[in-house]
Amino acid sequence: IITLAIESSCDETSAAVLKNGREVLSNIVATQIDLHKKFGGVVPEVASRKHIENIDAVIQSALDEANITFNDIDVIGVTYGPGLVGALLVGLSNAKALSFALNKPLVGVNHIEGHICANFIEDKTLEPPFICLIVSGGHTHLVEVKDYGKYEILGRTRDDAAGEAFDKIARALKLGYPGGPIIDKLAKAGNKKAIDFPRVYLEEDSFDFSFSGLKSAVLNYLNGKKMKNEEIVVEDVAASFQEAVVEVLVNKSIKAAKVKGYDKIVLAGGVAANSGLREKLIDKCSENNISVKYPSLKLCTDNAAMIGCAAYYDYINGRISDLSLNAVPNLKLGQK
Ligand code: ATP
Ligand code: MG
Ligand code: FE
Repeated sequence: IITLAIESSCDETSAAVLKNGREVLSNIVATQIDLHKKFGGVVPEVASRKHIENIDAVIQSALDEANITFNDIDVIGVTYGPGLVGALLVGLSNAKALSFALNKPLVGVNHIEGHICANFIEDKTLEPPFICLIVSGGHTHLVEVKDYGKYEILGRTRDDAAGEAFDKIARALKLGYPGGPIIDKLAKAGNKKAIDFPRVYLEEDSFDFSFSGLKSAVLNYLNGKKMKNEEIVVEDVAASFQEAVVEVLVNKSIKAAKVKGYDKIVLAGGVAANSGLREKLIDKCSENNISVKYPSLKLCTDNAAMIGCAAYYDYINGRISDLSLNAVPNLKLGQK
């Protein structure tokens, strides 16, 4: 089964071709990061326009690189939420047009489900069930993946997403956008014990997260230093902030695995690229006899291959969409 997948939920225009859901024949990603950099974040209207400019060429490149034509496609997968409505509509309209013209089934995919599925591409032997920590630009979820397409959300952030926290702190430090990779790099040169930022665990048995208090603590620290005219060691701030985020993410994930009886934790989403998070999770999990999986860097951030994998499992399980499918900007995981 050949799947063509399209992703345009935020600032990456992407198309991919997959064989039988897990073999990536092509995965073309046109990122708009440079375009949005000067604004310090994604500007929705600018993103939509750029998607329109790019999408046809991106799809054609995906077909060319996979060495196929439109006639070889069996199923079309597309992100229909969550994301920016204008951005989503570009990919979705294209996918619907192709589905109609080629008379091939359309499968609407939840973008967050796509992030989880990146792991099925990375490791061809990985099978549910497992615990998945999804940490992306807009979401932070701790999920029990019971089967392909079957999720139970154990916890979620009550305020900022993990990636959002990275981006906001980087902005406060005037480091540029997106902040995650920059903070990750600076943290390697800093002392993670330099500043004691708060770890927020919420109620004893909660798997929810909260990062807004940590964000305020970092901003207060920076303001205090400026008022006293004291030097700010950016590397130490980055390392101490990252450690505060990572420690909570790792401890809650391990607790979830233990409480629910799993010996496998899977990372997903853009922040899964964070080296501090990977290291600590591997460390703590090996102490607890839990195995860890995460996607390679290219599969962590937004790409259509992960959407194609999710679409494939929906398709073989009979979950297909029709041409009335609309973009759902606030689509929740587990909702169809
Ligand atoms: P969502 O998937 O929730 O809709 P999104 O698609 O914008 O949001 P992703 O593309 O999954 O988010 O991830 C982007 C986020 O990942 C950004 O917040 C970015 O700062 C963060 N990120 C990327 N690399 C790293 C890293 N090495 N360390 C920490 N954060 C990172
Ligand atoms: Mg992005
Ligand atoms: Fe994403």
